[in-house]
Amino acid sequence: MEIAVGFFVIAALGAFPVIALVVQVYRDSRGKKRNLAMRCYACDSNGYLFPVPHYKGDTFLYCLSCVESQHKSRRVLGYVAVVVIAAVLVGWVVLSQG
Ligand SMILES: [Zn+2]
Repeated sequence: MEIAVGFFVIAALGAFPVIALVVQVYRDSRGKKRNLAMRCYACDSNGYLFPVPHYKGDTFLYCLSCVESQHKSRRVLGYVAVVVIAAVLVGWVVLSQG
């Protein structure tokens, strides 16, 4: 039973980066089209845009409200990373005891 739970945790964690990558590729292609039309990468509004560097080295344009929510979501991603690492450790402990 514990092994099944640990296996499920690890399988779910393995699927997470794949889903995140697919979402990122989709958002990138959508956002690039918006930026070419001088619109916000995230919300498609055409106010004053600020350049925001992405982790891959590309820079995209965001409106002010999206720059602010970007900072917030980065903080949330930090918490998510902590939770994911904790879940990996729990899954590993459960598996190593089984
Ligand atoms: Zn925006």
